[in-house]
Amino acid sequence: MSEQRCPWCDSSDHTTIAGHWRWLQGVMFGKPPSAEDEAQEIQHEAQRLIEHLYDPDAELGWAANGRRISLMRDEAINWGDLHVIEVRPWANGDQVVFEVVIEEAAPEAVGLQEYIAEWLTKWGWAVSVRTEW
Ligand SMILES: [Zn+2]
Repeated sequence: MSEQRCPWCDSSDHTTIAGHWRWLQGVMFGKPPSAEDEAQEIQHEAQRLIEHLYDPDAELGWAANGRRISLMRDEAINWGDLHVIEVRPWANGDQVVFEVVIEEAAPEAVGLQEYIAEWLTKWGWAVSVRTEW
């Protein structure tokens, strides 16, 4: 089996985008990022994932893209004001997990939660996603 490497810089010291980000923070600031720094980065990425669901629209400004939201089409979501309100680090044993809280969607909007969680997890962050009004 070939050795896992960073998709961005090909280092074998880290193997995910999150790992690359942590490494770069260390290089830039001389110390590893705090949980709060990491929460801020995750919030930024989660917000971008939400924005990716929209297209510019002449009348609405921004309109949810029907194809991209197909997995959440039947969920109660206020597309006019959907946003990440906070990302909270919490300790789960030895691991820090980040709870991403998204406002303006029903608590049972599982398709939306999974979309956000799947990408952030793929990029190397340990997250749980909650939606609320
Ligand atoms: Zn890297």
